[in-house]
Amino acid sequence: MSTGCIFCKIISGDIDSDQVYQDERVTAFRDINPKAPTHILIVPNEHIASLNEISEQDKDLLGHLFLVEKRLAQQEGVAQSGYRTIINTGPDSGQDVQHLHLHLLGGQRMRHPMG
Ligand code: 5GP
Ligand code: ZN
Repeated sequence: MSTGCIFCKIISGDIDSDQVYQDERVTAFRDINPKAPTHILIVPNEHIASLNEISEQDKDLLGHLFLVEKRLAQQEGVAQSGYRTIINTGPDSGQDVQHLHLHLLGGQRMRHPMG
C-alpha cells in the first residue's frame, strides 16, 4: 500500500471501480476512460511503481498477471478476435499512474502501434 496511490486505493476498495476480478495477488477493473470496447487494467495488489522496480522474486506474480489477462480475454469474448496488451513505463511512454498495470484492450480493430 502506497499512500496517495490511486490504484492502491482501488485495490483496497477505498475508491470505487468496476472490478472484474480479484485474488490474493492481483486485481482487475475497467479503465475509467476506455480506449476500446474492452479496456481492463490488471494490477498487482502489492505496490510496484513500474517495470523498472520488478525483481527476481516477482517472476511468478508477473506470470500470474498474464494468465489472468488470458482468462479475462476469454470471458470478454475477445480471445479469438484478438486483443492488445500495453504496459507503459516512464515519461516517454506516457505512464500516468505510478503503480504497475497491464492494459487489456480489445473488441475493435486497432491501428498497429508501430505503423
Ligand atoms: P497509464 O497511462 O499510466 O498507462 O494508464 C493509466 C490508466 O488508468 C488510464 O488509461 C486511465 O484512464 C486509468 N485511470 C486513471 N485513474 C483511474 C481511476 O480512478 N479509475 C479507473 N478505473 N481507471 C483510472
Ligand atoms: Zn499503488
